Amino acid sequence: MIVEFFGVRGSHAVTAPGFQAFGGNTSCVLVTVGGRRLILDAGTGLIGLARRFFQQGPPFDATLLLSHYHHDHLAGLSYFGPLFVPSAHFTLAGPRMGGLSLPQVLDAYLAQPFSPFQPDDMAARKSLHTLSERHELVFLTGETTPRLVETTALDRPPPEAVDVRIRVLTGLGHPRNGVMFYRIEHEGRSLVYATDTEGFAGGDQRLVRFAQGADLLIHDAMYQASKYVGAPVPPQGWGHSTPEMALDVAQQAGVRRLCLFHHDPANDDEALSALEIAARHRLPETFAAREGLTVEI
Ligand SMILES: [Zn+2]
Ligand SMILES: [Zn+2]
Repeated sequence: MIVEFFGVRGSHAVTAPGFQAFGGNTSCVLVTVGGRRLILDAGTGLIGLARRFFQQGPPFDATLLLSHYHHDHLAGLSYFGPLFVPSAHFTLAGPRMGGLSLPQVLDAYLAQPFSPFQPDDMAARKSLHTLSERHELVFLTGETTPRLVETTALDRPPPEAVDVRIRVLTGLGHPRNGVMFYRIEHEGRSLVYATDTEGFAGGDQRLVRFAQGADLLIHDAMYQASKYVGAPVPPQGWGHSTPEMALDVAQQAGVRRLCLFHHDPANDDEALSALEIAARHRLPETFAAREGLTVEI
């Protein structure tokens, strides 16, 4: 699996001197696995990924996995050029939230008069999957499009036929509708994406179980502990973690590497470097996500 970071910032994009080393775009991570492209979230980082698609040329196909529908995770969608190419094929998957299926969410997000585009303007062929915890997505060997399967279905594909398995867990630590975590597994390697989640005392035990033994855990680490409960407006309860909360999960789950993600747009390169160094005292295999970084797992 090759993991590439196109957007690592939370809440909103930022561009200013002193923010260039880690980058200012919001959440978007490309995972290339078994020749297939999986995209985690559609923040403004997705616009840079569009440039990559066009440089490489067709076929334009990928699977876009959405954690939830806050603006910072969707802001790149309308500007992702490959979605407007008729010969392209994208699978989009995301949780049911606020009573809305994924198609209903996209209709609402692109509603008039807020958007220049409607879903139908995006000419690519689109397969939409609304996810719940009873689902997983699987790529069978030789297939480039994932299948949605019920984890309890008797006719599930046999394990030996599955090349990539994507499991999901609903995270409860994000207002108001939670968030969806993803675990991508391929040939004994695994990646867990757990952004936009606030830690629990003693560590989020559901997430600890879900992330058990992962090779890489990408975890929200937005606020330094001092800011989390500090003046003037403490962000406790806003649904984001401190690096210590991410470390709690990583250590209890026994993950091999931890990626601190969804950086506070108020944190410049200096602040993020300090946060990364401090976290490495607890878990040396920790790094802060930065745009342009590639990690092989
Ligand atoms: Zn966010
Ligand atoms: Zn959010």
